Amino acid sequence: MRSFTARELAVNVAGIARQYPAFRLRPFLPLLRTQQYQLRALRRLLAHAERAVPLYREKFRKAGVQARDLRSLADFAHFPTTSKDEVLAAYPEGALSQGLVAERCLVSKSSGSTGQVLEVVHQADQLSLQGLAMNRLLSLYGSYWPWDRFVYVYTAPYPAHSLLGAWPMHFLPTLAKAAELVRQLEQLRPTLLACYPSHLRALAEELGPKRCKALSLRAISVSSEASSKTERAELGAMFGCGVYDEYSTEELTRIAAQCRYGEYHLFEDVAYIETLDEAGRATEAVGEVVGTYLHNFAMPFIRYRQGDLARISVGGSCPCGYQFRSLSELVGRKLASFTLPSGRVLSSGFLLDASYSFLLDIGADLAGFTITQEAVNRVLIELLPGKNFRAESSEHVKQRFLELVAEPISVEVQLVSTLRRSPAGKHNPIVSKVPRL
Ligand SMILES: [Zn+2]
Repeated sequence: MRSFTARELAVNVAGIARQYPAFRLRPFLPLLRTQQYQLRALRRLLAHAERAVPLYREKFRKAGVQARDLRSLADFAHFPTTSKDEVLAAYPEGALSQGLVAERCLVSKSSGSTGQVLEVVHQADQLSLQGLAMNRLLSLYGSYWPWDRFVYVYTAPYPAHSLLGAWPMHFLPTLAKAAELVRQLEQLRPTLLACYPSHLRALAEELGPKRCKALSLRAISVSSEASSKTERAELGAMFGCGVYDEYSTEELTRIAAQCRYGEYHLFEDVAYIETLDEAGRATEAVGEVVGTYLHNFAMPFIRYRQGDLARISVGGSCPCGYQFRSLSELVGRKLASFTLPSGRVLSSGFLLDASYSFLLDIGADLAGFTITQEAVNRVLIELLPGKNFRAESSEHVKQRFLELVAEPISVEVQLVSTLRRSPAGKHNPIVSKVPRL
């Protein structure tokens, strides 16, 4: 993702300054006030989508609903849900707002747990909410001062590095070796760290207990991969600080995050989240997470089926004071890991990042992929080529994967015309046929 231009940065900073006081206060207000905010935001988004985004105009027409029908949050259930496949099929013309200027946009790629690559387009000067949500996330763990340094281990850098010098953020790539990450961390001395759980484990191993504590981190935020409560507690004890899970996606941005009491609070004013049963009705039991990101008018995601499962519970009882509803029993982020001949384990997060690296580093144009460990020393990579796929990319993908694995295994790359799916229609990008010991 490119950085902001000076103008985009200025517009976003002005947006942050304008919205900051209300955004900061909202989690503590009675939920009714937040629901009024959600209703206003949804009305605006639906009216825009109906007017300017062919995908939704068509879906609303077929379902016999109009944006102006939305008079209460309960009415929202009459609007159709949207799948990733529908967005992929409509993209770009049908899924983007008409009249969007490409040069003014930022594009991120969502590979996620479904393995099909979706581009998520944002208008670059309309990203103040993402800055605010990041600030809220890090404030959940205690005080977060403008001079506190934040390091994030991620696939690509954010488009800004600070807010006019305050709240500095440093990017480290997920594919860097643990030793290199350690070197950077010991040099940067951050107050806060965000990374995948698998990276945190690798860091803990590389550092050993003494140097873990010597980093003097205030809190660590983990995301993208499933991590257990026990695991986070163990890692927290090693680093001498809290380790908190967070749930976000490219499409819906920040969905929920653990506060320092361990409760997963929804970010109600960022994305409107519902859980639906198999018949598509709202459920209080564990259901499919369906979300509407309230702030992306360039490429709206409306009642978007995220594919994960969770239960929503009423909030208001957490000692942190948040009145937002909470997410519990979050499941569905579990993918296979590969155990190599040496016994080394490649986590699903590492493997997903390997796939990002095919896209980012070697510029292979892919519409999807499946990486299957056929036997302990044999991996099959199936590539669904994109429109501009070049034949030599297959070899590049193979070489890149071998570099990442750094062990003598055989890798075969095949081009496919469709992705394999489970009976429920889900595609799993990381598959292991090696029985677990
Ligand atoms: Zn809380």
